[in-house]
Amino acid sequence: MDDVVIVGGGIIGVATAYFLSKEGRKVKVIERDPTYKKASFPLSLGGFRRQFFQKENILLGKFAREFINQIPELLKTEKNPKPTASIVPNGYLLMFGPEHAEEQYRALENHKACDAGTKNIKGTELNKVFSYINPEGIETATYTDNKTEGWIDPFMFHGALKSKAMELGAKFIKGDVKSLSEIKAKTIVSAAGCWTKELLDDIPVVPQKHTVFRIKCPKHIPEMPLTGDLTTGVYWRPEGKEYLAGSPISTFDSKDLEPVWNDFEELVWPALAKRVPIFEELKLTGGWAGFYDCNKLDNNAVVGKHPKYENVYMATGFTGRGLMQAPGIGRALTELITTGSYNTIDLNVFDVDRIFKENARPEPYVL
Ligand SMILES: Cc1cc2nc3c(=O)[nH]c(=O)nc-3n(C[C@H](O)[C@H](O)[C@H](O)COP(=O)(O)OP(=O)(O)OC[C@H]3O[C@@H](n4cnc5c(N)ncnc54)[C@H](O)[C@@H]3O)c2cc1C
Repeated sequence: MDDVVIVGGGIIGVATAYFLSKEGRKVKVIERDPTYKKASFPLSLGGFRRQFFQKENILLGKFAREFINQIPELLKTEKNPKPTASIVPNGYLLMFGPEHAEEQYRALENHKACDAGTKNIKGTELNKVFSYINPEGIETATYTDNKTEGWIDPFMFHGALKSKAMELGAKFIKGDVKSLSEIKAKTIVSAAGCWTKELLDDIPVVPQKHTVFRIKCPKHIPEMPLTGDLTTGVYWRPEGKEYLAGSPISTFDSKDLEPVWNDFEELVWPALAKRVPIFEELKLTGGWAGFYDCNKLDNNAVVGKHPKYENVYMATGFTGRGLMQAPGIGRALTELITTGSYNTIDLNVFDVDRIFKENARPEPYVL
């Protein structure tokens, strides 16, 4: 019998393998596609932030930055002596219209309680800090300018975690698990992302297709933060000499990962040009689509022991924030598995039982 088997070698799987291996557990990770062609993490925007409504998400975002900054020391291996996740610490800027302002002011109380380090500014003052933004229709905005938020290269982050987990003894195996009953292990961790329902059909986490466009603009603003306009749901950030922009429209019934190109002209470009006038002039250079692991109950993670099994733990449902939450989730699951409780960030609010009780805890800050 194996000690620990993790199903899914994506970002949650490797982070959990790393933390469990550090505690001396003998970990086996089973991944059906080691090229990760359809996995969510390589198709993500790599963003890490503290700007959430719920305290647990803010605290997980804080730990992400702490962990990412320590990658060179924590994840150094003989094979990978200089690990990096290519951090771009440009910060985040989230802008809210009057309809979201009240909720945002309440969120700021949580930012303060968690010492998130965010700054708030009135829409009318926005131009003083971000001269290229058209503030029309923005009531309030929150941002960071202290390198506490930004983005990373998801594939490099995954590679560094995997390489360290392997050095610590974790084994990675190619395999497609059809049922958890196939696995004989003291502890099983389901880290199957948006495909969790194939293994645990009582968990309402499903693939939600999101399209990202790559664009080129003659005027480049490399210091631009990852910016979300909550009045339209469009978000964007620089990517080298170009930009990436996410569509606010998503679909639940897509099997393929073909980008929804029509969204660009009809929705994304007008929204970008309205908010950042230099984007009037731009060229679409590419794009892709990826699946969010969307928790249909409340857009929040589902983490912990599955109450219907003796030995099954799980983590999924990150709805657009699983990359940044991976270090905190890997650590939390390891605490739960090895000690029976959370010792750092208390994630009991994300427990599996709330799904069956339909005890929703919605996180409104979904980009
Ligand atoms: C367009 C887009 C933008 C995003 N932007 C961000 C962002 O800026 N910041 C952020 O934090 N997050 C972002 N995300 C979300 C993030 O990518 C996901 O939440 C995260 O990758 C989830 O990690 P995971 O390991 O659970 O799932 P995945 O990365 O999908 O990995 C799951 C793995 O499990 C394997 N698997 C599944 N079932 C089985 C099985 N039965 N047997 C064997 N293997 C199996 C799959 O092959 C896959 O490799 C974004 C996602 C998308 C699509």
